[in-house]
Order: sequence, then structure tokens, then C-alpha cells
Amino acid sequence: MALAANLGFPRIGAHRELKAAVEAHWAGRLDAPGLAAEAARLRAAHWQMQRDAGIAVIPSNDFSLYDQMLDTTAMLGAVPARFGAVEGEVTLAQYFAMARGTADAPAMEMTKWFDTNYHYIVPEFTAGQTFRLASHKVVEEFREARALGIHTRPVLIGPVTWLSLGKSKDGVAPLSLLEAILPVYAAVLCALQSEGADWVQIDEPILVTDLTDEQRLALRKACAIFAATGPKVMLASYFGALDDNLDLALSLPVAGLHLDLVRAPGQAAQIARRAGDKVISLGLIDGRNVWRADLAEALQTAGAAAAAHGADRVQVAPSCSLLHVPVDLEGEAELDAELKSWLAFARQKLAEVVTLTRALNGEDVGAELAINAAAAAARRTSHRIHDPAVKARAAAVTPADLRRRSAYPQRHAAQAARLNLPAFPTTTIGSFPQTAEVRRARADHRKGLLSDADYTAFLRAETGACIRRQEALGLDMLVHGEFERNDMVEYFGEQLSGYAFTRLGWVQSYGSRCVKPPMVFGDVRRPTAMTVDWAVHAQSLTDRPVKGMLTGPVTMLQWSFVRDDQPRAETCRQIALAIRDEVADLEAAGIRAIQIDEPAIREGLPLRRADRDGYLQWAVKAFRLAASPVRDDTQIHTHMCYSEFNDIMPSIAAMDADVISIETSRSDMELLGVFGDFAYPNEIGPGVWDIHSPRVPSEAEMVTLLRKAASVIPVERLWVNPDCGLKTRAWPETEAALANLVAAARAMRSGTLSPLPVEAEAGTGRPAAAACCGA
Ligand code: GLN
Ligand code: ZN
Repeated sequence: MALAANLGFPRIGAHRELKAAVEAHWAGRLDAPGLAAEAARLRAAHWQMQRDAGIAVIPSNDFSLYDQMLDTTAMLGAVPARFGAVEGEVTLAQYFAMARGTADAPAMEMTKWFDTNYHYIVPEFTAGQTFRLASHKVVEEFREARALGIHTRPVLIGPVTWLSLGKSKDGVAPLSLLEAILPVYAAVLCALQSEGADWVQIDEPILVTDLTDEQRLALRKACAIFAATGPKVMLASYFGALDDNLDLALSLPVAGLHLDLVRAPGQAAQIARRAGDKVISLGLIDGRNVWRADLAEALQTAGAAAAAHGADRVQVAPSCSLLHVPVDLEGEAELDAELKSWLAFARQKLAEVVTLTRALNGEDVGAELAINAAAAAARRTSHRIHDPAVKARAAAVTPADLRRRSAYPQRHAAQAARLNLPAFPTTTIGSFPQTAEVRRARADHRKGLLSDADYTAFLRAETGACIRRQEALGLDMLVHGEFERNDMVEYFGEQLSGYAFTRLGWVQSYGSRCVKPPMVFGDVRRPTAMTVDWAVHAQSLTDRPVKGMLTGPVTMLQWSFVRDDQPRAETCRQIALAIRDEVADLEAAGIRAIQIDEPAIREGLPLRRADRDGYLQWAVKAFRLAASPVRDDTQIHTHMCYSEFNDIMPSIAAMDADVISIETSRSDMELLGVFGDFAYPNEIGPGVWDIHSPRVPSEAEMVTLLRKAASVIPVERLWVNPDCGLKTRAWPETEAALANLVAAARAMRSGTLSPLPVEAEAGTGRPAAAACCGA
């Protein structure tokens, strides 16, 4: 008999109960026992829900108060010295301090978990670091479930993934610490076994990436220790294909292998033939997306695998933990029945796993399969999804649509003549403070307490005041302030057809922070202009150029749940066409500069190097399609807020924006070296103000950063701007910092600065700013 299994359930709760409890604890309103009780209540509810759904293999330790990577760090006692005591159990206070920092100890870094929008806390390594069993969470939660009569399969993040995702603080090679951490894993596995655990799930998603020989060796060593120690191991790979790591995975001495058959269906047959006596866990239900599975198709794969390998050695499961999807579709009262029939959230996915398993075991689930097949058939042909005009237009895109009329040098001249900006022009990234008043007005409008007309009047007044403030500060290129936007993706999604939104579709992003990604379910069309009124209103209040402000197609895609019935590139092209129309309308309305934000381009990079070029090609094309309908004298800006460009520089250049603004201040302009070495051909605005903290940088600091920038980028192509949008800042620090920023730009223009200290100019060979400004 095949078993229905799960790899992980969302821990936040359908109503974000965990967020409420954790934040109450941080605010001092809920003590540690209170938090523990709420956490235990959620775990119990989720275990029982899985059992009631018919899941036979239920995970434990998939719960976390903040992050499962941080839990592993705590388990291994890998607490950086700045968080105090290195003996005994990691305390709750230490745990949260590592995640969030304290007055004296900055938080540990956070970054995205593989290609998801979930962020994990990055482990820190030092030479000679010692490890110890410093958290018994995994054992305690196993016992807790057992006390409820539920026998679980505890989940651990594997040592090789944990080490590979961490960061060396002093040059120590992370994998050199393997021998030091394996005894802790062994101790945990022993403890679990003596508690009665017969299986554990060890997640090694690193198996779907390009592995080095050291990583392969480390996986072998780790699995050898597991085999000699504790319960049977279900080694879980997910987010892609094993590919060239397939032989390695099959050769590891583990009792089970989990495969992601949603991302990589092709590997099922091969593994089923070669898995010997390993149990194989078929990840057939998409743990990364919100669509209802096509059970007939999944059943075919499962059936073939069971026939080849024996049903007794098969489990049916989601492709990965369900952490990445919302909890329960039942709460979505506002979604219509048709749309709902195409969707499955975590709870519905459990039911799919069970139906599939029962079908595989020869039980009669004809009724469930019929309902599923009807929904799939309706979705394939629905006119809500398929818009022939959109498809025809996307198919007719030609290479000429992806090109500006002239090359950058001609455009630069035309824009300089029209915009008439000074050297070192100053601008901001788009949003201005979303004050409590702005947020209250939005909430009141939503609740119907503020009429459409009153809300619009309020927003126009805010926009007007924002334009006056920018003029008073002396900024050169203004923005309208984005007061009307809740979120840079949702705002556009709400105005495009083919998008739907949930009421409670929360997904954990990091710690207590959750996001509610929109769902692109159908062909995307722009029924009407989305931003033109705001831009035109703002421009009518000033003679200075106001930038139109748009979210780019790749970011729209990346931060949504995307339909799975056509390639992502195709959906992206449709979104790009909608943005292109908006760009054209802004230009026609007299807007002279348009910014298309693409903060998410980099995070869309596939996990395998071999797939990256393909992705970058369509992503760049989508941006160019959106950006190219304009005349030479209309200036296209883009913005990206991260600082790793090394490996994607050619693609950034290929986007061919006239101006790019990027985050740099936190890295002290280091990143500019990359732009300098690559000889980035267009204009660039390196952020000189880290907007992630309320600290106001001085004019002198910003001048120093600008002079470093000017030693790498020709001054006639340098802009002066903050790192990112200002929506999370308050007005007082915003005005103070922008005043300094304008003063810094003026100082650069004056050309009266003393020479830069030698080391700041080293290695570039280009003249410093002061020597040649006024270009
Ligand atoms: N224009 C957006 C803003 O200023 C950009 C946000 C972002 O880069 N994530 O808020
Ligand atoms: Zn940004």
C-alpha cells in the first residue's frame, strides 16, 4: 500500500495567529509561556487537521517560531559570540536576538531560501567554531505530537544544505565544519530513535543545485553517519531535478528519497527503475503554487512508478513543504466559485495527496476524480482565462518592438536637451512616507468610511504637498509619491484583468512577516490607464520633470502566484505588453521620464547555472518590450534594490534603460567596481542613503560616497539618489536626509572639493569628480 505523506505545513495559522502571538511577545504583551502555549495550540491543530485529512506520514518540527534554518542553527549551538553565552540551551531571548538583533548586537543576515520568497537567517561560521546540542525542539515536538496520539516523522534541515547556505566570517570553508556538526546530528537522531521515531525527513534541497565535489563528499559522509545512527532517513530534495546528482542520490545509504515531480516530472520513471529497496516519495502536488492539481495526470505518473517499484515502497506527497502556499481556500468568501474550483491551498493539497494515494491503492475515488477532471477541463477552455486578442498580440511581438528607436548616445543627447538637468541630477526612487494618516485613509476607504471622491481628494492633496516639499528641497527630478499604492505589485494587479486576490492568502515571508501574493490566473490585459492621472496631476503642479512610476513585468511575475498552464515567459510577455501601453500613455500625456522598477529580476535566477541564460534572455526581453515604445527624448529609468550584480551585468546592460538606480550605500560603493569594470554604458544612480534605517547621513558622508562613485563612473552619467523608496521612513528624517543629499550633489557640481584621499581613487584610472564636473 502506498502512503499519503506531507513534508511540512504552514505554521502561521489561517488567520496569522502565530504572527499575532510572536509580535505580542516582542512587544512585552505575551510572556514566554503564553507564546509557547499558542505555538503548541497551532501545532496540535495542524497535526490533527493532517490526520483528519487522511495523511499517514505527518511531519513534526516543521513548526518554527521564526525560521527553520535558525532552528537548525540553535540546535547546533551555532550562536555567534555577539549574542552571549555559549553554554546550555539557546534561550528564547537569544533565538529572537539572532533573528532581529539587539541594541548591541546586529541581527544575523537574512536571505531568500532557494528560489522562493521565503527568507531564512543565514548561519555564520568561524574557524575552530564548536558545536553542541543546544536545542531539543525536534525531540520535544515529536513527544508533543505523540502525547496527542499522533506519530510523526520529524523534519530536519540537512547538514550540507545548512553549511552550504551559511556564510564564513573569517574565510573558514563552511564544509570544513562538517565533521564538527555531524556528532550533534547523530545525537539528535539517537534521541529521536529512543523516543520511538522510526523515520526522519532530512531536507537536502541543495541536491537540486550544481554541486561541487566537496559537497558531494559531504553528503556521502553525512548519510553514512545517519545510516549508522538513528531512524530511517527520507532524504528530501525539492525545487528542481536531481539531474547530474541523481546517481549520487541513489547511491546514498538512506532508506527513502523524496523527489519534486512538479518541477521535474521526468525523473519519476528513472528513479522508480533504479531505486532498489529505497522508499520513493513522489512529490506530485505543487507545494509552490496555488492551482488545483490535474489528478488524472498525477495518477498516471504515480501508477507507473508504483508498477515499476512496488506500491509498498511508494509515498505520495506535495513537491515540497506546504509552507509556501496559503493555508486554506475555505476562508476565501470573496472569490467566485469558478475561480475557486481551479485553486488548492495547503489544506486542499492535503486532500489531493490523499485522493491520489487512495486511487493508487485501488480505492474507489471516482467521484473526487470526476470533480477534479471537470475543473481541469473548465480551466483549459474558460474564456476568463483565455483571451484570444491578448494571445494574438503576444504572438505578434517582433524584435523591433524590443528596441528603442536610437542607441543610448543619441537618446542621451535628446534627453539632455529636453530635460535640461544639472550635472549630478538628484531624484528619489518613487515612494514618499506612507504616514499613519495615509494608511488610515486607505483603510477607511476600504471599509467604506471614506467615499471615493474624498479619498481621491485626500491623495491629490498629499501628492501636491509632496511635490512642494521636493521643490523646496531642490530635487531636480520629482516623483508623485505613490500615496495611492498599497503595494507595488498589488496596485497594478488590481487594475489588470487576469489577476485575482485573496482575503487571507498569507504566506510567510520572514519571521512574523507575511505577504499575500496576487494570483495571475488568466491572460493579462490592461483595460484602462493605471497611473496616468496621478503622474499628470503631479506634473501639472511643477515645471520640473516628474517621473512616471511603474512596476516592471518580471517583478509583477516574481511576486505573484503565476498560472502553471503556460510558460512563465509567456505570462511575463503579456504583462510586459500591458506595461508597455502604460508607458506609451504616460509619454503621450507629457511625462518626460518613466521609471520601470525591477527589484526582483535577480531573484528569479534559476537554481541551475545552465538554466540562467534562458531566464535572463526572456526577462530582459520583457523589460525591453515594456520600455521601448517611447521617443528618444523620453527617459527610461529602472531601479533594483540589491547589491549582487557581478554575475548578471551583461543582462543589466542589455535592458538598456537610460538610467538605473541601485542599492550601494550599505556596501560602501563596492558594487560600483562591477559597473566600472564592466564599463556600464548608460547612466547610473548609486544609492547614497541607506533608507533601511532612520539614520540621517551627513552631506559629507554622501559626498564621500559620490566621489568614490565618480572615480569609477564617468561623472556625466552619475545620478544622486537614495538606495530605495521612502515609504517606510518618516517625514522628518526624509527631509533632513534629502536636504543633505541635494547639498552633496551641489558640492559635487561646484568643483571646489579638495582631492580625494589616494586609496579612494585607487585602481580606476578615471579622474575624480571634482576634477571634471559641470559636464
Ligand atoms: N518605486 C518603488 C518605491 O519607491 C520601488 C520599491 C522597490 O524597489 N522595492 O517604493
Ligand atoms: Zn528598491
